[in-house]
Amino acid sequence: MVPSRRTWNLGATPSLRGLWRVGRAGEPEPGMARPAPASPAARPFPHTGPGRLRTGRGRDSPAGGDEDSSTRSAARPALAQCRALSVDWASPGSPHRLYLTLQVEHLKQKLISQAQEVSRLRSELGGTDLEKHRDLLIVENERLRQEMRRCEAELQDMRAKPAVPCTGCEHSQESAQLRDKLSQLQLEVAENKGLLSELNLEVQQKTDRLAEVELRLKDCLAEKAQEEERLSRRLRDSHETIASLRAQSPPVKYVMKTVEVESSKTKQALSESQARNQHLQEQVAMQRQVLKEMEQQLQSSHQLTAQLRAQITMYESELERAHGQMLEEMQSLEEDKNRAIEEAFARAQVEMKAVHENLAGVRTNLLTLQPALRTLTNDYNGLKRQVRGFPLLLQEALKSVKAEIGQAIDEVNSNNQELLRKYRRELQLRKKCHNELVRLKGNIRVIARVRPVTKEDGEGPEATNAVTFDPDDDSIIHLLHKGKPVSFELDKVFSPKASQQDVFQEVQALITSCIDGFNVCIFAYGQTGAGKTYTMEGTLENPGINQRALQLLFSEVQEKASDWEYTITVSAAEIYNEVLRDLLGQEPQEKLEIRLCPDGSGQLYVPGLTEFQVQSVEDINKVFEFGHTNRTTEFTNLNEHSSRSHALLIVTVHGVDGSTGLRTTGKLNLVDLAGSERVGKSGAEGSRLREAQHINKSLSALGDVIAALRSRQGHVPFRNSKLTYLLQDSLSGDSKTLMVVQVSPVEKNTSETLYSLKFAERVRSVELGPGSRRAELVSWSSQEHLEWEPACQTPQPSARAHSAPGSGTTSRPGSIRRKLQPSGKSRPLPV
Ligand code: ADP
Ligand code: MG
Repeated sequence: MVPSRRTWNLGATPSLRGLWRVGRAGEPEPGMARPAPASPAARPFPHTGPGRLRTGRGRDSPAGGDEDSSTRSAARPALAQCRALSVDWASPGSPHRLYLTLQVEHLKQKLISQAQEVSRLRSELGGTDLEKHRDLLIVENERLRQEMRRCEAELQDMRAKPAVPCTGCEHSQESAQLRDKLSQLQLEVAENKGLLSELNLEVQQKTDRLAEVELRLKDCLAEKAQEEERLSRRLRDSHETIASLRAQSPPVKYVMKTVEVESSKTKQALSESQARNQHLQEQVAMQRQVLKEMEQQLQSSHQLTAQLRAQITMYESELERAHGQMLEEMQSLEEDKNRAIEEAFARAQVEMKAVHENLAGVRTNLLTLQPALRTLTNDYNGLKRQVRGFPLLLQEALKSVKAEIGQAIDEVNSNNQELLRKYRRELQLRKKCHNELVRLKGNIRVIARVRPVTKEDGEGPEATNAVTFDPDDDSIIHLLHKGKPVSFELDKVFSPKASQQDVFQEVQALITSCIDGFNVCIFAYGQTGAGKTYTMEGTLENPGINQRALQLLFSEVQEKASDWEYTITVSAAEIYNEVLRDLLGQEPQEKLEIRLCPDGSGQLYVPGLTEFQVQSVEDINKVFEFGHTNRTTEFTNLNEHSSRSHALLIVTVHGVDGSTGLRTTGKLNLVDLAGSERVGKSGAEGSRLREAQHINKSLSALGDVIAALRSRQGHVPFRNSKLTYLLQDSLSGDSKTLMVVQVSPVEKNTSETLYSLKFAERVRSVELGPGSRRAELVSWSSQEHLEWEPACQTPQPSARAHSAPGSGTTSRPGSIRRKLQPSGKSRPLPV
């Protein structure tokens, strides 16, 4: 081992001659190998500096500085020795000492320049062969590293790819490529291994050479040590000789001179040996440095090789693993493929079997179907033949069906004709029966209605009840008149308990006969306040005959609507002082005339009398409302006026039978007569007397007409009053008349009650026989009304009229007299 600078052997201090030789440095010691200077062109990497290449890690070591310091440290012992030698003569100012000092300084500078020169030469010469080899190796290593990195990246890619089982040849191609690549890589690895082994060999060789160099260096060092030893021994001897010579004073000078002469020679030899020594030391240091670096390089190269080997092994194992994985995948894919093929084959076999079975079934079916097909074909042919003959068949069938239908229609027609004939006969029979019924009941029927006692009757004896009834016979009424009981028999008597509906039921048959084309007259007769208007019109809550009659007509008409088409029209008129006025007209003051129809039918009509066509009870109410609104403005004392006039509601029912074309016209006259009280007897005068005379005249005329009709006289005096003349067609022929005689039950009205009931009974009793009828009627007519005549002519006080209960005070919202006002001739229904 070469000693370091720090452990430099002071015993082997170079002689002065050696030091001196250093001053002539730059020339190599004879026999010492020195690296030949390499031309810059011969350098492998001319762009790279030698220092950089030498260190190999980009770190420039201050080589010059080190050598300088080593030179200085090498010169230091020599100077120390010189100082020791010039203990006596090396005093300050001694020329020898000065010389030595200068010599030392010079040597120092020489050393520095030599070191610089060495470093320069080194840089110029470039690296050694080993360095070049090392550089090559580094480059090669770098290349290998890059190759490995590439392999690594490829392997990563392979790993990153999902291990999807290959189904086509694409993966197998890829795997083949990979396999090729693997083999290439393996080849490269083998090559690299070979290269590595070569490099190892080279390194080995270099190591051997280094070992040789080291041996030689050791030899040199040993030689140098021996030389130093020898020189130091000689120097010691010289010192001893000098010392002994100094001790001998006289001959000393001589000796000194001799020594000085010899000393120069010695010094020269010393300096030479020192220089050689120095040079050798430098060489050794240099070689050591080179060796160290080489060792380091070798070590790093070993490490690198080991790393590379480890990496190669790792990659190999990685490759092997990948290869194994790939093989496994291929194996599993192969297995999957085989399994799928087997399954598909098994399935196909099963399916084939099923198909075969189906085929066999179909074959058997076909075999069984063939006879059925044959029969079907036969059927089809038969049907085809039938179809060909079908139009003819159809024609025949149609002809026969037509004939049958025609026959059926004829039968139905004849049936219908028969039914129609029967129906007409039934209708006639019904009418005949009805007529017979009415005839049996009497064409003119008289009923009495007793109103209840009201507040208007007052209190006291005058307001006591004077009327009683027979509990077993509803046609008997008893009146207590002036203490004497008087009984009357009529068609029917209604007590105060009887409701509006009870009374209406009695007249219902008459009203329905109007639909069948009969003319009907219903009169309310009696003194004022006896309940005529109540019975005919009633109240809003409890309507009278008028409204109920129209309701009944509407419902009956609706029932027959499937066969008959009916039109119902209404007119309202008033007869006051023998003047006929239209209650629905626009000009109530206008006097209407009754005229004969110009067609010569003998029918009467009232030109200008307004008619409203009605279809429901609502329409009727509208008509009444309209009349009432207008009439309240016409008469200031409506109640008074209404008791002095006859109010007529004329309902005409036109019917057409849809099947027969039969036409019917029935007229229903609902008459609220003026008060029957004997005004003349109470001494009325002026307008009141005139009113009374007109009322008496008209009521007498009515009595006369009814008497004439009952006794079936040839002449009926219709023209004696406007009332009878207007109702002529409704009183004659098959017409039916009903008179409701209204009476008051209280004591104070017994005279008028008696008179009304007598009038009623007489009307009814006339019917018993034509002869007697006529006679009785004549006597009644002459007796009663003629009896009144003088009274009429002699003005009497009108106390009776005023004494009538409720006169001038009663007001009923349903009253036609109040409701209807005169209006225009013929207008649409008011809305
Ligand atoms: P007229 O018309 O004969 O002059 P009204 O019909 O005006 O008599 O009747 C006079 C009064 O008697 C009215 O207040 C009426 O309400 C009442 N009245 C008449 N008849 C009845 C009856 N059956 N039930 C209840 N009140 C009646
Ligand atoms: Mg009245």
